[in-house]
Amino acid sequence: MAILKVSRLGHPVLRTPSQPVPKDAITTPQMQRFIDDMVETMREYDGVGLAAPQVHVSAQLAVIEVTHNRRYPGESAIPLTVLINPKIVSMSKKTIQDWEGCLSVDGLRGKVPRAESLEVEAYNRKGEKVRFQAQGFFARVIQHECDHLVGKVFLDRMPTLATLTHLNEFVRYWQEG
Ligand code: ZN
Repeated sequence: MAILKVSRLGHPVLRTPSQPVPKDAITTPQMQRFIDDMVETMREYDGVGLAAPQVHVSAQLAVIEVTHNRRYPGESAIPLTVLINPKIVSMSKKTIQDWEGCLSVDGLRGKVPRAESLEVEAYNRKGEKVRFQAQGFFARVIQHECDHLVGKVFLDRMPTLATLTHLNEFVRYWQEG
């Protein structure tokens, strides 16, 4: 396995809509190794999610996992989830504003409204179609990662930049609990 280089804001790959992964390619050794590398990279940098464009690969693939995350200490656990060609098929009208950060927007946090719950359809890493509901922080992370796959970052979703905060100041003035 390998830790991959993370793309940072300004790299065009973050602004390029990703290509779907051909279903037959999912179970190839190369793709399985790439998924393993993405998981390892997410864990190395304490991310709760990582999308392929964030490691310079323009493919519709994202990994999500929350254990006891140092960057998001208050959030409940999410088991390792691999989403390939994900489609959000429905979203709640109700939204919640909460803080987000991004490994590609290093050192900043901002408040973003996101649908409180959603239903998503995708392939898993075995190439099986899965469809499930998510809410709260899990739903937030899915929306954040799916945005990466269409060339958007959380800054685009902030209704105002007034909450944009450096991480040190976030911890000092805004972190709860
Ligand atoms: Zn991100």
